[in-house]
Amino acid sequence: MQMNKNSYYVTTSIAYANAKPHIGYAMELFEADTLARFYKNKGRDSFFLTGTDEHGQKLKEVAEKEGISANEYVDRLSKNFQDLTKLLQLSNDRFVRTTDTGHKRSAQKLWEACSKDIYMGDYSGLYCVGHEAYIKESDLVEGKCPEHKTEPQKMELKSYFFALSKYADKLIELINSGELRIVPEKRKNEIISFINSGLEDISISRPKSQLDWGIDVPGDDSHVMYVWFDALSNYISAIGYESNPEEYRKYWPANVHVIGKDIARFHCVIWPAMLLSAGLEVPKAVYVHGFIGSGGHKMSKSLGNVIDPVEYVEKYGVDPVRYYLLRYIPSYNDGDFSREKFEDVYQSDLANNLGNLVSRVAAMINKYSGGNYTELKVENDLSLEDLIRDFKFDKALEEIFAKLDSLNVAIEEFKPWEVSKNDIESTKDFLSGLAGEIVGVAKELGAFLPETSDNILNIFKEGKVAENVNPLFPRLDQ
Ligand SMILES: [Zn+2]
Repeated sequence: MQMNKNSYYVTTSIAYANAKPHIGYAMELFEADTLARFYKNKGRDSFFLTGTDEHGQKLKEVAEKEGISANEYVDRLSKNFQDLTKLLQLSNDRFVRTTDTGHKRSAQKLWEACSKDIYMGDYSGLYCVGHEAYIKESDLVEGKCPEHKTEPQKMELKSYFFALSKYADKLIELINSGELRIVPEKRKNEIISFINSGLEDISISRPKSQLDWGIDVPGDDSHVMYVWFDALSNYISAIGYESNPEEYRKYWPANVHVIGKDIARFHCVIWPAMLLSAGLEVPKAVYVHGFIGSGGHKMSKSLGNVIDPVEYVEKYGVDPVRYYLLRYIPSYNDGDFSREKFEDVYQSDLANNLGNLVSRVAAMINKYSGGNYTELKVENDLSLEDLIRDFKFDKALEEIFAKLDSLNVAIEEFKPWEVSKNDIESTKDFLSGLAGEIVGVAKELGAFLPETSDNILNIFKEGKVAENVNPLFPRLDQ
């Protein structure tokens, strides 16, 4: 049944539209964007989805506090995130909103497809509004949610349940066989032990008397869907699960969902179980990134160490921020972002290594070779495909930048400024070789640093070097 498709479908989690985007979410967007561009550059039909999650109790409460309708409130927040995708120069093919009519119909279709596993039951439990999820009594600290520092609400209600427990064995089988890859290994092991500790059926609706800001349960207009059931279905609603079977077949199953570690259970357990119940294929992979701290601490307003991605992008440009997040936040672990480290990396890797190499070689070709070089076919000796298949963005950039280092070393060893005095031909050959290498690296950089890649390819074009080359990364003290 599994055909080898030419499509490559990558998603981010959809932003829960109740706050400004944080740096961790910017990283997730860049990771997904890099995957989409990487496979597009390899000739695959990439499709990149992001969007906003717009239902749930928390949003409704904030809207009420601000004295506006929930609709008006989510329109404004979703607009913020759509503006962010432009500011970050993302290549997303679509932006899904869970308040779109098309999404609602898809979520309802999925619910109906799962109907054999959905039943009405009595629910009683503790609900944390901050989490939009039930929380176990044993997880409370002094009666409060340890993360949100609020007391959960005691909920006793009639609700629909999804028979999650039925799917434990099948999920373990899919995960162990690699049909559903969970990367990194550490996250996979956590999910396996979570499943093995026993899955319980989950409540997937709310009576409208409690919450009316959600998608109606098909056939029962006194209930709305639990926000996670609604939100997870965005991954298929956005590619025409309900409205465009051809597009749906082309892109589903997703090649990868890029998510943060806090929502791994929803994506690695609940979502695949919903799909199995509906008779649909599960995603091929879930890549789980870590969290970002600052200066060795968790970011918090009170510590004053919150990194605002918008401020950084406006000040330093998109690519430097992309570079730092992809290379210096470990792809398989938590990481750290501080202005000091960021500026060090900007100076050493981008301005001195990459930027300097490009302007130096361009200047030497202008000086020794009248601005011309011979276009040579250079063998690409980088092993990026394997690294990207494993979502090792950090290692991929490490390899590309090691290559740049070696080119800088080659210049120091060859010394064109000396050789050119009595052997201009071998100087020209050497510079042509360098130009070929730089063009090759620039093409590979296209997925990681798209704007920089374009800039380099505009400097070295069809055997001619631009006459005036502005620094790719201006010095920060200027
Ligand atoms: Zn909470």
